[in-house]
Amino acid sequence: MSKQCREGDLRPDSPEFQGYLHSLKKIDFELAYLAALTREGIKPLSRWEKPLVDEGLELLQQMGLLTKQVRRTVKTGKEIVETIFSRTPAYIQMYEQTFGNTPIDKSARTQRFEGFLFGYPPCCVNHYIRKPYAPNNLTEQEQKILFHWACRDCKITPALLPAYKRIYDSLDRC
Ligand SMILES: [Zn+2]
Repeated sequence: MSKQCREGDLRPDSPEFQGYLHSLKKIDFELAYLAALTREGIKPLSRWEKPLVDEGLELLQQMGLLTKQVRRTVKTGKEIVETIFSRTPAYIQMYEQTFGNTPIDKSARTQRFEGFLFGYPPCCVNHYIRKPYAPNNLTEQEQKILFHWACRDCKITPALLPAYKRIYDSLDRC
């Protein structure tokens, strides 16, 4: 069996997968959390904005994720490198084609497209664009484990929360 085949079959509950996750957690808890959410398909694509050591990149790949490093610029003209990862080549391509070698921007259009790629409910993204961090009905702990700010009375977030919580809790223990 080729290496790629084995990785494709790697189950999130296998000891091998848990080992990679554990090593990633040593680099950064949030990175490991994003990797697990993305590997399970809860987030179609994730972005890591901080610098990433080669070991981190390799671990993501060993977990069965496709990775790409994308160059962006900030207001001052300084270049930064983002790491994106996904199980799906099309998402990597869409991100790269839209944002590769572009300045970082926070326009409504960008936020909507990022929300789509990152698996955020559109209602929450639209509400956040109009009124960032508006009070919602989540507990502090529920909001803390999400990467989007939930809209008030959200119909989608309550369905996502158990999956986020399961992964967060298992990572907290490993
Ligand atoms: Zn919502």
